[in-house]
Amino acid sequence: MVRLTEKGRFGKYGGAYVSEILMQALLELEESFERIYPKNEFQEEFHRLLRDYGGRPTPLYHARNLSRLLGFKVYLKREDLLCGGSHKLNNALGQALLAKKMGKKRLITETAAGQHGLATVMAGNLCGLETEIFMGIKDMERQAQNVKKMILLGAKIKPVKTGAGVLKDAVSETLREWAECSRTTYYLMGSTVGPHPFPTIVATFQRVIGEEIRQQILEKEGRLPNAIVACGSGGSNALGAFKSFLEEPTVRLYFVEGGGESLTAENSAAAFRLGRPGVLHGSLMQIMQDEFGQIRPSKTRAAGLNYPGRGPEISYLCEIGRVKPCYAFDHEVFEAVRTMGRAEGLIPALETAHAIAYVLKNRGEFRPDDIVVINYSGGGDKDIETILRHFYGS
Ligand SMILES: *Cc1c(COP(=O)(O)O)cnc(C)c1O
Repeated sequence: MVRLTEKGRFGKYGGAYVSEILMQALLELEESFERIYPKNEFQEEFHRLLRDYGGRPTPLYHARNLSRLLGFKVYLKREDLLCGGSHKLNNALGQALLAKKMGKKRLITETAAGQHGLATVMAGNLCGLETEIFMGIKDMERQAQNVKKMILLGAKIKPVKTGAGVLKDAVSETLREWAECSRTTYYLMGSTVGPHPFPTIVATFQRVIGEEIRQQILEKEGRLPNAIVACGSGGSNALGAFKSFLEEPTVRLYFVEGGGESLTAENSAAAFRLGRPGVLHGSLMQIMQDEFGQIRPSKTRAAGLNYPGRGPEISYLCEIGRVKPCYAFDHEVFEAVRTMGRAEGLIPALETAHAIAYVLKNRGEFRPDDIVVINYSGGGDKDIETILRHFYGS
């Protein structure tokens, strides 16, 4: 076990708790990112792809009907309109481009709901890189639609049967694979988790969300918002939205986890209420674990919120009180989907609906002249079956 420099630390969180072999790959990655990312050529190509392929900037939409219902002004940052239907492409494009500049030939990654796997094969194809996706067999059954899309785009799918056959097992398997082939292969981490420098790289590529929010809200309102609300597990869409506002004490930041059916239910993923700090996948972070330190796999209905760890930076920001950790329960989440549909004609991803549900339930926390931005991380196409089953049975 090796610990890396202070660079990868957020308070006590973060670090790189990995084997010697992986440490070499991580050092190469850190050096390459710091050298390549600031270059004009890289910045131009990245922003050209975000704009012309991805569709950035995404709109900041004043949801008037929802605002009327709530009694304060609500804006939605429309990451569902990014190509692929969620915020995932920002990070996948950035890292695929980095992999190409590093001379790698192949991308590997893991996925649960399939949104990150899909974004990775899209970005891989753009950059001329082979893509292989590790996926728990349980998740493969549940997310058949996205598996089909990934296969159609030419990704190789690697079923993971170890452990419980879910995301945390797929991450372990991908790290093992990477240790053997990092000379030719790039591990494209999907969220702000894993050993340093991954959390920093992913947050850097997702920062564009908050940079746009800042510019757009100043244009529309002439002032900063009072609150930004984002859902999350690893924390990439939340940090992406928050990073431009961390030094603005008047902007309150809310991080909404999957509460599950209740806090005592098997499927709760409220890691800031139920978990504690520990090491998982090479990083010290807030983790869902039992009294013996075994990882407690969560099973919220939103597959994208089921990673058992909260990345080191969001863990730290919650610990020092800069970000308020909160959660929404499943029944509130489905109600939020219905409310958003009726009010604005939009069907949010179940992950995103957690952020909406929190605002609906806790409207008393906001004042009539408040401006609240909800980071609308993705659309609900992938969740239609689950949503219909909830309201109408199967
Ligand atoms: C993957 C995903 C999330 C959760 O991932 P974070 O890294 O915590 O942001 C949230 N919303 C959507 C739509 C997703 O696809």
